[in-house]
This record gives sequence, structure tokens and C-alpha cells, in this order.
Amino acid sequence: MRSIKAYSVPGDAIAAAALWRTTGFDWVMLAPSCLDSPGTAGLLSAIRGEGLRWSAIEPVFLADEGTVAHAGTVAHGASGESELSIGESGLPLIAEWVRFACPSKVAHARRVEERLRAHAELAPDGMSLDFARFWQFWERVPENAKGDSLRSGCFCPDCRADRASRGFGGAGAPGGNLAAAADSSAEADISAWRRDVVERRIAALSSLARGLLPGVVLGLHTVPWGAEEYGGAITRVLGQDIAALAPFVDYLTPMAYHHMVGRDPEWIGRVAADQAARSGLPVVPCAQTAPAYAGRELPAGEFIAAAEAALRAGGGSMALYRHEDLAASPEKAAALRELFAARPEEERS
Ligand SMILES: [Zn+2]
Repeated sequence: MRSIKAYSVPGDAIAAAALWRTTGFDWVMLAPSCLDSPGTAGLLSAIRGEGLRWSAIEPVFLADEGTVAHAGTVAHGASGESELSIGESGLPLIAEWVRFACPSKVAHARRVEERLRAHAELAPDGMSLDFARFWQFWERVPENAKGDSLRSGCFCPDCRADRASRGFGGAGAPGGNLAAAADSSAEADISAWRRDVVERRIAALSSLARGLLPGVVLGLHTVPWGAEEYGGAITRVLGQDIAALAPFVDYLTPMAYHHMVGRDPEWIGRVAADQAARSGLPVVPCAQTAPAYAGRELPAGEFIAAAEAALRAGGGSMALYRHEDLAASPEKAAALRELFAARPEEERS
């Protein structure tokens, strides 16, 4: 799989699909904003016309507000803040566009399910589950951040009740009144609950997608944190337990955006190896095309070094974030075309 992510319907869908094919991509991952537009039918027809396959990106816990801001269209969504995941302070967790829905809000979960059903009607080859985790702006977490400083939700009354009813929490501290012990015990209960919430939701959506589309190829976008990094925060804080989620999907797409998080291109290989070991699944590492959140340029040479590292780690497969940036850089598109041509994709069972 050589896949490119797109977040809006290109102005000229035929030219965009031709660029994807001639560059060497064989797959396109389309955000919901591409699938709910007057241009959707033309885009899908252009993709098919070039012989490409495509996946619908399904943001699982992203709040509607976050979805629209992430797609770069409007600043405010329809959902209002009552659905947002709540932090320990009692306030909604909001960092720029990063807004997650409280997992106990049934209306949000139902809309996600309805959107997946609507996308299934479009007959995609795959679905790519994104935001399968709890709130955190991982893109802005520095390499030297302390694991203890990373927090998440949800502390709304519905989630507190959900924890109690499922047996997560309320056990108190063993052996007396030690506040620290109580804190760590409660923290462990909340972590276990987050992990359980994400696993149940991914299991349900995977089953729904496979029921609607037999043969659908399911991917999972994963946060590029190692198992032990930040004190195990990928599972402990985000609830994204890669080993537990692996049975519900066919491959992983770690968002290995090295430039964004201040690492070297070779770091992409380490992320992929860690996630392959934890999941036992094929890993399709996703590289980035343009700078984001970093105060420096991403030169073409470094972009290609990252793409090479991703291809190597993915056994010839990789994904790229994102069309909007590649289309704006003919230099990077040409360099990537050369790289893809020089590195034929390995056969994978
Ligand atoms: Zn909640």
C-alpha cells in the first residue's frame, strides 16, 4: 500500500487523481470532508478512473467541532461544548482544534456510526479508524515531556458513573488513608477504563464495518509513542493499547510525523518496529510532507529521507500526510515519484 491522505475535495479531482497515480500511489485515504461534498462523486469517479483504491477515514472520538476545524473549513461545529471530554479541573479539554467527544455521550457515538454507514454506501475498499483514543495534543508534546504531566479525560458525571458501573474505581486505597496511594490507585483505574472504552468502541466499529463491507481493509491511525515512552502514556493516558486493538484491524498507520515532533527521519523506523512488535500487524508508516507546529522548514531532502525511512520500515508500503501539501510542492512530488519508482513495493500476503 502506498497511500495518500486527502482532507478536502481537490479543485480539479481528475488532475489530483492523475498526480496520485503518476507519483506512484495506489491508495487514497479520504477524510469525511471529502465524502460529504458536492464534489464527492466526481472525486470517487476520478480515483476509480485512475485504478486507485480508497479508504474512508473515520474519526472515532474527535468531537464534531474538532472535525470541522481539522478539515480547515469552519471554526465552530454543530455539537456545542456539552459533548466535549472533560478534564480533571471540570473544564472541557480544548487545545486549538484538538477537541474530543466524551465517550459516554450516546448521541455522538451514534453519529459516528451513522457516518460510517453512509460512507459504506460509497463502497470504499477500506476504512481507516482515526482518533481512536482519548484527548491529548500529541503533536505538541515535546520529546523531553514528563509522563506525569500528560493528562486526559473524561471526568464528566456520565463517565464517572460509567466507571463505577463497570467496576473501574471506587475501590479506594489499600491499607489506609495514604493520599498518594489513593491517587495512584484511582489513576490506574481510570487508565484501565480508558483502555477498555477505546477497545470496546473499536471492536464495535470494526464489526459494523466488516458486516457492511465484507472484505473491507481496516486500518488504525496510531499515535507515534513507544510502549514505554512518557511512562507508557499511549496506553495509560490515551487508552490506545495497540496490542489490544490489533485483532480488530488489518494494519496500523502510525502518524510518524518526525518533523512535527522534532525527531530525525530514522525515528520513523523505530516507531514502526515498536508498533509491529506490539501488534503483530503490517505497519504502513505515515510520513509528513510539509511543516506543522514546527518553526522551521521541511526541505525536500529531509522529506525524501523520511519517505525512504517509512518505505523501509513498511516493507515498501507507506502513507503520506497529505495531498494538500504535496500538490503545493512539485519539487517534493517529483522527488517522491523517483523514490517510488526506484523502490518497487514488496509483495505482501
Ligand atoms: Zn465523559
